[in-house]
Amino acid sequence: MYIVSVLIEHGTNRLSQPFSYLSNNEVMEGVRVRVMFNHQKLIGYSLGCQYTNLSSKELAMRDGFRYNYILEVIDDKPLLNKELVALSEQMSKLYITSQIVCLQAMLPKALKPKSGKSVAIKSQKAARIIQKGEATTKTQKALYQYLLTPGIHFVKDLPYSSSPLKGLVEQGLVEIYDQEIKRIPQISSTQEHHAITLTKQQQDIVDGIMARSERISLIHGVTGSGKTEIYLALTKRMLSENKNVIMLVPEIALTPMMVAIFKERFGDDVAIFHSRLSEGERYDEYRRIAAREVHIVVGARSAIFAPLMNIGLIIMDEEHDASYKQESAPRYATLTIAKMRAKYHHANIVLGSATPSVESYARALKGVYDLYELPERINKKPLPACTIVDMAQEAKANHYGLLSRLMEERLEQTLEKGEQAILLLNKRGYASFVKCEDCGEVVKCPHCDVTLTYHKSENSLKCHYCGYTVPMISHCPHCHSSALKRIGIGTQRIEEELHQRFYNAKIIRYDYDTTRNKNDHVRLLEAFEKQEANILLGTQMIAKGLDFENVTFVGVLNADLTLAIPDYRSSERTFDLLAQVGGRSGRGKKTGTVVIQTYNPDHYAIVDGAKADYRSFYNEEMKFRKLAYYPPYCHLVALTIQSAREEDVEKAASDIKDYLVRQLHQVRILGPAKLTIYKLQDIYRMRIMIKYKQADEVFKVLNQLDDFYNHKTRKVALVCDFNPYTA
Ligand code: ADP
Ligand code: ZN
Ligand code: ZN
Repeated sequence: MYIVSVLIEHGTNRLSQPFSYLSNNEVMEGVRVRVMFNHQKLIGYSLGCQYTNLSSKELAMRDGFRYNYILEVIDDKPLLNKELVALSEQMSKLYITSQIVCLQAMLPKALKPKSGKSVAIKSQKAARIIQKGEATTKTQKALYQYLLTPGIHFVKDLPYSSSPLKGLVEQGLVEIYDQEIKRIPQISSTQEHHAITLTKQQQDIVDGIMARSERISLIHGVTGSGKTEIYLALTKRMLSENKNVIMLVPEIALTPMMVAIFKERFGDDVAIFHSRLSEGERYDEYRRIAAREVHIVVGARSAIFAPLMNIGLIIMDEEHDASYKQESAPRYATLTIAKMRAKYHHANIVLGSATPSVESYARALKGVYDLYELPERINKKPLPACTIVDMAQEAKANHYGLLSRLMEERLEQTLEKGEQAILLLNKRGYASFVKCEDCGEVVKCPHCDVTLTYHKSENSLKCHYCGYTVPMISHCPHCHSSALKRIGIGTQRIEEELHQRFYNAKIIRYDYDTTRNKNDHVRLLEAFEKQEANILLGTQMIAKGLDFENVTFVGVLNADLTLAIPDYRSSERTFDLLAQVGGRSGRGKKTGTVVIQTYNPDHYAIVDGAKADYRSFYNEEMKFRKLAYYPPYCHLVALTIQSAREEDVEKAASDIKDYLVRQLHQVRILGPAKLTIYKLQDIYRMRIMIKYKQADEVFKVLNQLDDFYNHKTRKVALVCDFNPYTA
C-alpha cells in the first residue's frame, strides 16, 4: 500500500497542505491525480508517495479516520521536474500563496492541475519497416527501398499509391503506426539578418559576461545600440559550451520581433512561449522543451518556468517592463524567479534595457550587478530632435484642438513628403465617457467604480474592467434629462478629427478595439509597414520595439496621463514611454522628429524623457525615491483587503492596521485607503502599504494575517503584493 501526498486547489479556499490518499500502486511525484474531496471529484497534484505495509483498515485504526483511494492517475509522466516542484514550494513561501497556485502558473493551460484534460496528441499515420525481407512486386520493392531511407515516412506523403503499401503490410514487412506530430509555431520575420561581426564594444561585453559565472549583468544601451546582437552572440557561446538559454521578452501585444530573430538564427532549436500561441501549440512547445529537443526558449514572463535543463544563461530584454510582474496570484517578479533558477543551475543573468528600472540601475552602480553601457546607436545616428509643446500655452493662444499647432504642422509636412507618422495616445486616453449636462452625473458601471466607455462602432457603453455592456442610453439614468454629452479624447475621436483635418490621409487605428482577434495585431502593423496608411494612431501598445523604415514623425498627444497614475513608478513609466517612443522615429535613412504635448512641460520625467537622458532622469528620480522613501530605499508590500460587504472591508482594514502597528517595528505603514477603483465587479477594496527593510518580521506577520483571513474567516480576502504596480 502507498500513501500519496496530494495538493488540491478547491474554490477560493487555498489549501496549502497536501492531503493523503491511498493507492495500490506507486504514484510518481509530478503527475495529476483524480481524487474525492468533500464529496467532489477534484484534480490534484501528486507530491509523491510512501510505502507502508499496513492495510487501509490498519491505517484507519492508527490515524483515527479512513483514507480515500486515489480514483485515477491522469498522467503517465511527471509534468514537472524536481527543480520546478521545489521552486513552486519556495515561491509559495515567498509570495504567501499556496503551492498549487504556483504550480498552476508554471504549466501551460492544458496541463494545469485543475484541468483534467489530457490534451489530444496530434498524430498521423506513418509507415516503417519492421522486418527484413524480399518484396514481391516492383513497386513494392521501390517503396521498400524508399522506406529504408532515414526519417519519418508519413503515409499521406508517400510517393506511391496505397496498394504496394498494403502488400508490404500483408507480408509483415512494414507496419503502419501513429506518429505524433508537434505543432511548431511558424514565425515569419520581416527583417533580414545577415551574419554580423560584433563591434569591439559588443565583443567586450560578451567576453566580460562569459568570463564570470553566477553573476547578474545589466546592459544599459539605447535602442539600436546592438543589444540584441549581444544576446544572440551570448546564446551561441552558451550552446557551444552545451548550456541552454532562456530569452525573456516583454509581453507586448505583437508577435515579438525577438522571437523571429532567434528563430531565424537558431531554427527549430528554439521553443516559443507567448500568449499569442494556441493552447495546442503551447502544449507542444512545452513538451519539446521537456523532452530536451530544444536548447533555447524565447518567450514572455511565463517562459521563466520552461522545463529547460542545464541552463547557462537567462536574458531579460527590456528588464524594466511592467509585464515582467504577474498581476494575479502568484504575484511574482520574473527577476526574482530568474534568480532562483540561476542559483540552482549556477547560471548567469543578463538584463538589458535602454531605460533600466531605477532599482536595477542602483544595484548596478553599487556593484551588486555588473554594469555595461552602450551609449550610442550602432549606426551612430543621433536620436531624433524632440520638441515639447505646453498645451496650457496653446490654450492661451486660443488653440483648443487635440492637436497643437506644431503637431498639425509636422503631420502635414510628413504627409506631404510621403513619409509616415505614429501618433500615440497614452493608455487611459482612449476612455470617452458620457456625462449629463443637467445634473452633472457621469454614467458609471453598476458593478465597478469606473465610468463606462462609449464605443461608437456599436453605439454602446462598456465597462473596460468587467465587460458590462449596454446600448447607448438616451436619457440620464439619474435625472432623466436627455442632455447627454460625450467627453474625453478617445482614439476614435482623434481618428475623426484627423480625418477632418487631413482628409486624404489613410489612418490605421491600433487599440484594444481594433486588435481583438488573434491576427489583427500583425495584420494592421504589416499594412502600416507596407505603407498602406500614412498615420498609425494607437495606445502605448505601439510604443515599443517597432521598427518602421519610413516613419519620420512621432507625436505624443498627452504625455501627462501616466504621470497621474497613483504609483511610485509613475515618473519612471512616463520617462520610459517618452524615451522609447522617440526611438521609433527616424530609424531608417531619413532623420526623424518627435513632438510631445503636455501640461507639465517642466517635469523632469518629460524633459529628460524627451532627450532620452537616462542619467539625468535617474538622478532626479533617486532623489524623489529617497525623500518619499520608496524602492530601492525600502521594500514595499501592498495588502489589499476585499469583500462584497463594505462594512466588512472597513472593519477588517482598520483591524489589520492596528495589528500591524502593534506587531511591526521599524516599518512605515500607509493607509488603509480605498483603491482608486474602490468597487470592482461588486467587490469593495482597501489597501494598506508597508514599507520595510527587514523582511523576516514582516513575513512572519503577513503569514499570520494570511492564515487568519484566507483560511479561518471567509468574510474578507487578503491579497499580498510585493513591489506592486498600480493601474
Ligand atoms: P538593440 O537591441 O540595442 O535595439 P540591435 O541589436 O537590434 O539593437 O541593433 C540595432 C541594429 O544594428 C540592427 O539592425 C542590427 O542588425 C544592427 N547591428 C547590431 N550590431 C551590429 C554590428 N556589430 N554590425 C553591424 N550591424 C549591427
Ligand atoms: Zn464594471
Ligand atoms: Zn442627469
